[in-house]
Amino acid sequence: MQLIFEKSRKGRRAFRIPAVDVPVKAKLPSKYCRSNDALLAEVSELDLVRHFTNLSRLNFSVDTNFYPLGSCTMKYNPKFTEQIAGLEGFRELHPLFAQLDATVPYTQGALEVLFCAEQVLCEITGMTAFTTQPLAGAHGELTGAMIIAAYHRHKGNTPKYVIVPDSSHGTNPASAAIAGYEVMVIPTDKDGYMDMEAYKSKLGPESAAVMLTCPDTLGIFNPRIKEIADLAHKAGVLMYYDGANLNAVLGKVRPGDLGFDIVHLNLHKTFATPHGGGGPGAGPVGVTARLSEFLPVPRVIKKRDNTFALEYKFPHSIGPVAPFYGNFGVILKALAYIMLLGKTGLIEVSEIAVLNANYCLARLKDFYQVAYNKNRCMHECILSAVEQAKNGVRALDIAKYLIDKGFHPPTIYFPLIVKEALMIEPTETESKETLDSFIAVMIEIAKMSKTHPELVVNAPLCSPVKRLDETKAARELNLRWRPPLEKDG
Ligand SMILES: *Cc1c(COP(=O)(O)O)cnc(C)c1O
Repeated sequence: MQLIFEKSRKGRRAFRIPAVDVPVKAKLPSKYCRSNDALLAEVSELDLVRHFTNLSRLNFSVDTNFYPLGSCTMKYNPKFTEQIAGLEGFRELHPLFAQLDATVPYTQGALEVLFCAEQVLCEITGMTAFTTQPLAGAHGELTGAMIIAAYHRHKGNTPKYVIVPDSSHGTNPASAAIAGYEVMVIPTDKDGYMDMEAYKSKLGPESAAVMLTCPDTLGIFNPRIKEIADLAHKAGVLMYYDGANLNAVLGKVRPGDLGFDIVHLNLHKTFATPHGGGGPGAGPVGVTARLSEFLPVPRVIKKRDNTFALEYKFPHSIGPVAPFYGNFGVILKALAYIMLLGKTGLIEVSEIAVLNANYCLARLKDFYQVAYNKNRCMHECILSAVEQAKNGVRALDIAKYLIDKGFHPPTIYFPLIVKEALMIEPTETESKETLDSFIAVMIEIAKMSKTHPELVVNAPLCSPVKRLDETKAARELNLRWRPPLEKDG
């Protein structure tokens, strides 16, 4: 195509893209061909920079403001990991690098990255083997559930159920269901723990596994977790660890030592990769020795001559679960992050994450109801806005008001068993000053809900988009980037 440079009607310079020329026209149906020339404005670099900078400011991100989204671990993402992922040898890799030629140095380096990532994740979790293939936490869960199914099939068992507590993330029952299981839900007792009598009554040959988040989505570490695992194993039931909350116990507690058989990690949560808005993520899955033969293929192996290769010969494998070898860039960034922090750094992560959450809890517990334990939480604290709701200020209103004040809202209405839930996860990367300013706004909201609730329920007033009609948005979903033109009908 030929670009013609000329002055537009307003005297500004512009590129003219000519209407489709004859040879192209002959090949394309006429309804797809442009009949008039398109005039594209040429703008100065400064105008362009302003345009994109202003667009980027319409987005909320960890790089701009505090983002205490509970269960998501929205920690600061160090920029050096981006630089490492951008190194030419990694950036220019062909997606099928190992299949094409495993002997070239770039490919060997990339395979070593995957191998090392598996090794450090085994060390961190107490598992024997890992796959880095799954592309997100939920995908890791499905992979894990398929491994559970393969294990039971192999042993000749025919269990029907997967046990899940009612505080669990929705992806847990969903993954179990997609893997072909029925879901058995266990209620939470008055202290926030899985009800032990109900749990025991569900153990037996009918149950394949129990899927737990530990600490759970109520921000509580169950002190009876070892007993829960022992009971499961005695009944031939596997223990699945949803690792979304690993940030709370990193370097302190290994799921393998607690008795878990399968673990998924959310590298984009615990190991600092930008996420939110849909990815990319990585949900590697680790297993104990008795389950390793069921892991997806290909697996990265280290040969006797210290070179690396992909191995497909695992006859009991569930097969590949993702194209290529997983989200390589995310795995690489996680490995870089782990290697920079080292063991003591990772321990510090969990200590400060828990400290920060407890600080929020201690300062807010006199202003909001606390879901379960008023005195202690792990890496996130779960408050409830039931008191505020009596004056018409619901968790959703609090979330909207926080946006006006420059804070991303915490997770709301989850866990489902907490009414008007506000799930606050500050992470270890925030300063006391940031926490204090967030807490000050939360206290302001609690007070305003008594005196001027109308000021909260009309928020946000300062954001690019005002309050949406959530029901209409859900019922009449319109994902177009522009309003429909008349002739589109
Ligand atoms: C985030 C999360 C998941 C799902 O992970 P994705 O990476 O978002 O697919 C599962 N369980 C819990 C507890 C989570 O917080």
